[in-house]
Amino acid sequence: LVSRDVKEEDTIIRFAGTDATIGGHNLAVIAGPCSIETREQAFAVAEEVARAGAQFFRGGAYKPRTSPYAFQGLGEEALRIMSEIRERFGLRIVTEAIDHEALELVAEYADVIQIGARNMQNFSLLRAAGRKRKPVLLKRGMSATLEEFLMAAEYIMSEGNYEVILCERGIRTFTDHTRNTLDLSIVPAVQRLSHLPILVDPSHGTGKRNKVLPLARAAVAVGADGLIVEVHNQPDKALSDGAQSIYPEQFAQLMDECSQIAAVL
Ligand code: PEP
Ligand code: MN
Repeated sequence: LVSRDVKEEDTIIRFAGTDATIGGHNLAVIAGPCSIETREQAFAVAEEVARAGAQFFRGGAYKPRTSPYAFQGLGEEALRIMSEIRERFGLRIVTEAIDHEALELVAEYADVIQIGARNMQNFSLLRAAGRKRKPVLLKRGMSATLEEFLMAAEYIMSEGNYEVILCERGIRTFTDHTRNTLDLSIVPAVQRLSHLPILVDPSHGTGKRNKVLPLARAAVAVGADGLIVEVHNQPDKALSDGAQSIYPEQFAQLMDECSQIAAVL
């Protein structure tokens, strides 16, 4: 089902009530904080990203943290805050379901269900997401091959949900000057084999604020269908991923530069 042999034309995902789409080389941009921390923080960031032209808002409600003692997310309260953000700013909401319990609530509140890198091969969660009637943003596992990545998407589609959005977010390599190594070469590789949209996450892909804009430009230049970017109004106070979160002014610059690149492609 993921294959271009089965479906030649690009899959384009539409969202009722907006002209926002994902797929078909149409630069979809998802932006927002790593985690929803407070209503004030979420609204402040949403206002800025909406003003800069993002059509989608991201924010973690359930966080897959390395340490069990680190901030785990506000859960359903964060989902309620993001529903308010959708009403107020017209942004579509993208948020991660880390397990089956979260999936039920995320599918209720969000516009796009995110499956994180750590769950890319959680086959029972993939199947369950495939039974929901909301688009699924599937992030590449940190050591997943192209074949494994596409077969994970196949699990979702095999249950009847054909609205799958792939996302490259960096892989583990020996190099340690960035948090992960952003594998931009997977973008054209996916596009040759599959009709599904492929986004790039330069935030988790680099882990460093000053690398996000250059890699976002490169992702658009290589032909990605869009970006997912972490933005925070006070990154030094962020409860997760502050070091890779860009300032709202930088996000506005990113939008400007990336739209210009997309326009000449
Ligand atoms: C995220 O987008 O917040 C996230 C946790 O990403 P990943 O699953 O790619 O690490
Ligand atoms: Mn993050």
